[in-house]
Amino acid sequence: MSDPNTQTQCPLCAGEFALPQGAEIGELLDCGECGEELEVISVSPPKLKQAPEEEEDWGE
Ligand SMILES: [Zn+2]
Repeated sequence: MSDPNTQTQCPLCAGEFALPQGAEIGELLDCGECGEELEVISVSPPKLKQAPEEEEDWGE
């Protein structure tokens, strides 16, 4: 079952990416295309950004 509301794009490789059901902001997911780690920054609409490679800095 594909839900268009969860479809977005990998910001790194521009591959299609489907947010899993129940995904939450701040969750880290692996892109199936490029294998990079992505952070969920919005779920409606779904948006992703590259997860920081350094240790998380929650101060921002
Ligand atoms: Zn990717």
